[in-house]
Amino acid sequence: MSWDERQRAMLAEMGLRLPATAARPAGVEEATAEPAEALPVARTVAAPPARAAATDPAPAAPAREVRPGAFAALAADELPSAVAACRACGLCEQRRQAVFGEGAVGSAQWLVVTDPPDDADDASGQALGGEAGRLLDRMLLAAGQSRRGETPTAFVTPIVKCRPPRGRAPQPAELDACEAILARQVELLQPRLVLALGLQAARRLTGLAEPLGKLRGRVHRWRDLPVVVTYHPAYLLRSPADKAGAWDDLCLALKTVKTLET
Ligand code: SF4
Repeated sequence: MSWDERQRAMLAEMGLRLPATAARPAGVEEATAEPAEALPVARTVAAPPARAAATDPAPAAPAREVRPGAFAALAADELPSAVAACRACGLCEQRRQAVFGEGAVGSAQWLVVTDPPDDADDASGQALGGEAGRLLDRMLLAAGQSRRGETPTAFVTPIVKCRPPRGRAPQPAELDACEAILARQVELLQPRLVLALGLQAARRLTGLAEPLGKLRGRVHRWRDLPVVVTYHPAYLLRSPADKAGAWDDLCLALKTVKTLET
């Protein structure tokens, strides 16, 4: 089965061009979604509303304290506000907004776990916006997935929901505290596969302190789920030559899910 024109266009936007006779790998269905910019936003979990200006002083955190163990009992509609109010680790002190994530509601085929929020995410409360987010959306669409649209199939969320000061790597205690939230997201979304974007997400989910290049190209396990590692889209914008490798990773993810179904 060959690639359709839309998928070729999506791959072209990733910086990849396929030979006219290239075959579509197993697990990649014909694309039916529109490009990310044209997609209506529906059936998505909205991030907490952005403040009027990123430079506003941070509002006082709600008095309610949510301890890690409490997340396990929360329903899907309770979790976003609990995360917004979370003070379970020190990263709450300097965040502007916690980043809950965005995507499928009810169940998701792919859970996309990214590196911690960057400055823009911290200001907007949205996971992976901007140019890197648009590249991620094209990557997902090329693989038959979407975090937006009428029937989103993926959910995108950071490994820790609050931005570490000055963009430093999160500390183990901070990762431990925030994993309670990620674990609850997994329970609620029941994904088939986890795609780890970036070194910090990849190291946490694989438990291996190896370079990203050594974590790619194989299937790891985390909480009984297959984990595939790939580059963070922000890195791919700086290093477009590695987009071909990212596409290999997406194909591995598709092949892994296909194998689970047979
Ligand atoms: S990083 Fe996670 S655990 Fe820490 S305060 Fe933010 S939401 Fe809570």
